[in-house]
Amino acid sequence: TFKAWLVDKQADASGNASQTATLSDLTDADLGPGDVDLDVHWSSINYKDGLALMGRPGVVRSWPLIAGIDAVGTVTSSDTDRFATGDEVLLNGAGLGENRHGGLAERARVVSASLVKVPEALGGKRAAAIGTAGFTAMLSVLAVERHGVTPNDGPVLVTGAAGGVGSIAIAVLARLGFEVVASTGRVDSQGDYLRRLGANSVIDRVELSDAGKPLQSQKYAAVIDAVGSTTLVNALAQLNYGGIATACGLAQGADLPGTVMPFILRGVTLAGINSVEAPLALREEAWARLATDLDAGLLDELTTEIALAHARNAAEQILRGELHGRTVVNVRG
Ligand code: NAP
Repeated sequence: TFKAWLVDKQADASGNASQTATLSDLTDADLGPGDVDLDVHWSSINYKDGLALMGRPGVVRSWPLIAGIDAVGTVTSSDTDRFATGDEVLLNGAGLGENRHGGLAERARVVSASLVKVPEALGGKRAAAIGTAGFTAMLSVLAVERHGVTPNDGPVLVTGAAGGVGSIAIAVLARLGFEVVASTGRVDSQGDYLRRLGANSVIDRVELSDAGKPLQSQKYAAVIDAVGSTTLVNALAQLNYGGIATACGLAQGADLPGTVMPFILRGVTLAGINSVEAPLALREEAWARLATDLDAGLLDELTTEIALAHARNAAEQILRGELHGRTVVNVRG
């Protein structure tokens, strides 16, 4: 048997459905279809894992399901030529922990189409510490680069700064030479941490969270946003002419209560970021860049390691906004 966080759905006496996650003992016969089997060694806690483990709706879409949108492990059997037994591999998204059994388990059976070899320079633990959040941060940085933005164009704003996506985005942008402005709700407790990651200045997120004018003074060449809602609308209103904002998250809200004025008067671009469905070539590009453009020492500083049994405690904390940086799960620890 192996240990796994299994999410199941129940109906109470009045017919209301609820979900609960339980640390369960399963066997390989419980794993779904796939062409590569893994001994999982590492997973992580992303915002989505928080939702799944705390029984909130919207992430798990088939029951019972092993939670965990990230898996890093060693191939134990493979039906594809791309991977051999013993390879160290990583998988982010691609339905993991949503409609396919996920990575918060000692075993996984995955579809190789989105599977990537762990870059040697990183190793398994750091790859899991980066996880979906860090992968998404790199996809956002790649979108900014593709837009042609360089450090000479001006500062980059990162929202949700102390979270997983925000922390890795700051570390990568700073390493690439960008001036970084970090927006956080925790200036007092996380300000020093954010400057240590490479933020040049730290602003209070309340400056962005209330409705503002459709066009505001131009401050940023680019914005990496994980927050959505009014924050993203204000960030768009503060972009320089021709700038770009990337949108990956909804920590404040899924709404976008704004106007088209930044688009039609300043020619700004809004780029959507979706890590779950990212094609293989983009996955490989992002992971190669994470291996070279993220300072490993800083990554270690922003990472907290926990054991599999403690995943639900961390899930509760991420939903309360109490974690910072990344939380890596030692699945066999
Ligand atoms: P996280 O570690 O919880 O970070 C989210 C951060 O957002 C928090 O640390 C907090 O930063 C900020 N925040 C929370 N509530 C807020 C509010 N009401 N108003 C403004 N800011 C708020 O989560 P994560 O794993 O980095 O994910 C961040 C977001 O991106 C989530 O919405 C997640 O679902 C999304 N995401 C999307 C993709 C994709 O493929 N599109 C991939 C990964 C993540 P401060 O404490 O610094 O204020």
